[in-house]
Order: sequence, then structure tokens, then C-alpha cells
Amino acid sequence: MFKKSEKLYKKGLKNLVGAVNSPVRAFSSVGGNPLFIKKAKGTKITDVDGNEYVDLVLSYGPMILGHRHKKVQKGVDKALKNGYSFGASTEAEIKLAKIVCDAFPGMDKVRFVNSGTEAVLSAVRLARAFTGKDKIIKFSGCYHGHQDSLLVAAGSGLATLSMPGSKGVPEGAVKNTLIAEYNNLESVKAHFEKHDDIAGVIIEPICGNMGVAIPQNGFLVELKKYLESKNALLIADEVMTGFRSKFGGAQELLGVIADITCLGKVIGGGFPVGAYGAREEIMQEVAPLGGMYQAGTLSGNPIAMAGGIATLTELKKQNPYKKFEETGSILEVILLETAKKYNVDLVVNRFGSMLNPFFTNIEVTNFEKAQTSDTGKFAVFFWEMIKNGVFLPPSQFEAWFLSSALNDKDIKKIAEAVDKAMLAVS
Ligand code: PLP
Repeated sequence: MFKKSEKLYKKGLKNLVGAVNSPVRAFSSVGGNPLFIKKAKGTKITDVDGNEYVDLVLSYGPMILGHRHKKVQKGVDKALKNGYSFGASTEAEIKLAKIVCDAFPGMDKVRFVNSGTEAVLSAVRLARAFTGKDKIIKFSGCYHGHQDSLLVAAGSGLATLSMPGSKGVPEGAVKNTLIAEYNNLESVKAHFEKHDDIAGVIIEPICGNMGVAIPQNGFLVELKKYLESKNALLIADEVMTGFRSKFGGAQELLGVIADITCLGKVIGGGFPVGAYGAREEIMQEVAPLGGMYQAGTLSGNPIAMAGGIATLTELKKQNPYKKFEETGSILEVILLETAKKYNVDLVVNRFGSMLNPFFTNIEVTNFEKAQTSDTGKFAVFFWEMIKNGVFLPPSQFEAWFLSSALNDKDIKKIAEAVDKAMLAVS
């Protein structure tokens, strides 16, 4: 079934580390080798062996309209004809900035970068520049990209590979990073009681990187209130949730306005874009206006901007958030009822179009609880889903994503695959 992928894997090992360019793409935690993809269209992705899958990875989130949506393709094709990169400003940057700032009330201004990692590292620098304080609190299990200072107690690929942190990160780089527990305000307060130089707290407002974890009992609202009382900033890392949870991100949904917002994934529609933004007085700190320096050769790249503009324009028109809720809850019920049928302990966490099952019997509200999931069972489940035509992230600690293109036929196919996979797990 995977003959050509296996061949490419062996070939790739010669000049690529693990034959991949991001560790989450290596299937090591599920006991296999990476699949190599040839093409994708709509809800489907096809590997080099010609196997076709319903895609619930969606490039880890960006492809919210499905693959190669005709409006996005058209926007990008048109931009390509004018050249690929100029090292000077274009009107497209202004257009995308307006769409983004209109959607997020906390963002008067935005700066485009090339990835979520860059967005977050710039946001953290900005929080420090604005407050004049150095310490940042992060939550265990949240992942904010691969910059040194936040690569501790992180979810996503590190959780997948059971890595507590990364080699090569000097102690000095993390000495201003404090760790708190998701959904536990007391753990945040405890840090403020000990330190008076905390610039802010960074959070995935709905977490997708320990698998999905959802803020409980107004956690985010209470956190914001508390931070205001301490003159510290809330940095919402909406790289995953921006334009996905709602057009205005998790903040719109949860009724919170962050001081600084980080975006990525969906805002590039599959092209490399990240962004950070905030209200005017904070963004005044950024060069060339202020003394916080951040730059990029390809930042605001015209092709990526065109991908973002077309994606967000179409997304606004489709307004698929009600549909996401309906489709998501159908999948949730399919997973839970099939697990019940085969007597498998299963918890499903879902927020709109982000969801994933945990093979555990306790409610998953933080990283420690996510780690009670039986990853061996997940691996069995994963391969059965692949064999039955559904592409999932090869990790227990990643969210599954839905696109607005997902249809009844796809759901039927997913349901049939879940039945076989759950039987295999039982
Ligand atoms: N922040 C969050 C919440 C993410 O999910 C990710 C990537 O998955 C990042 C930051 C890093 O983004 P990128 O992989 O584009 O650098």
C-alpha cells in the first residue's frame, strides 16, 4: 500500500533529517514511516502510491476551505504573474492587514511575518518592550513554535516524541519562562506572588497542541481580569484558532480581547504567513516607529498575501462556523458511540472544527490529563484509519481539523473507518 512512500523515505533519509522537514511529519510515535503526498483537492489528499484519504490534517490547520479552493487558486495565480517578491511594500499587505484588524478588535495594527513561530517570538519581544519586564508565563502542553524561550513543557511534536524540552536551548534562554497549568488560575497567581517582573502570559485560548483542551468555567475571562489587575499582558496565541474558531478567533467566541494576538496558518491559506498585532499604543513600540526591532526579507510576501486575502474573503462569505459546529458534533458522536459499541475508554475534546479523541477515561482539561491517554491504542487506531482512507495527524497530541468543504460522503467514509479502527483497538 505504501511502496512508493517507503522508497522515497529511504531516498529522503540521505539528505533530509528523518526524511522530513518537521518532526510532526515523521510517523515515529505511531511506529511507521512518513507518507509522501502527491496532491490534494477539496477534502481529499492523495499519496505517491495513489491512496486517497479524507484529510483531517489540512496541513495542521491552514486549509480551512479544503485544498486548492478555486478562489484561492485564482488569487494566487493572478499574483504570481506580477512577480514573487520585491523587498518593498505592496497593496496586498494593506488589504490583508485591514481584513485581519477588522476581525480582531484588539488589533489596531498588525505586522506580517513568515510563520507562527516568528509571530510568537516577536509578540513576546513586544510584550517585554512595552512593559519593561522580562518574565513570561506559559502553560504546559501549549506549543508556541520552536523559539528557544518557549520550548519548554511544550505540546505538539515535543509531546509526541516525549521530549520535556529541546537540547541546545541554553539555560539563560528559559530563565525568564515560568510554567503554569492550563485551566488553573491559581498556578498563574502563584508566579505573580513570587515575581514582580512578569510581562505577560501567553496562551492558546483553545489549546490544540496537547490534543484539544478547552478553557473551563470562564478561565480565559478570569485570567484576563487577573492580568489587568497586575498590569501584565495577555498574549493570545491564535496561530491555530484565528479565523478557525470564529472569524474573530477564539477571542470573539470566548468574549476576551487580548493585549497582543498572534496569527498564522489560516491567514496564509496554505502559504507561509504569520502575524502579530495589538492596540495602537503597544504597536507603537515596533520599529520603525519604536525601539523593538523585528524584520523579514520575505515578510508580507505578495503570493502569501494573495493566498491570505482570497482565503479570508471566501471564509467571510461562507461563514462556515455553524456548519463546523454541526459537522464537528456529528463526528464527536460517531467517535463516542463507536467507542461505546466496542467498549473502548474514550474521551473526545472538541471545539468547533478542532477535535480529537483521547484513549482515557478521565476528562482532559490539561496536559497531565492528556498524557493519561493510551498512545499505543492511538497508534493502532491511527493505522486503521489510514488503511481505511482517513488521514489523521500521526500523534495523540495533535488536533484534527475540519474544512468547510467536508460533505456527507466524507463523513460516511470517516464513520466506516472509525468503526474498523475502534474494533481494532478493542
Ligand atoms: N502557535 C501555535 C498555537 C501553533 O499551533 C503553532 C504551530 O503549530 C505555532 C505557534 C508555530 O507555528 P509555525 O509552525 O507556523 O511556526
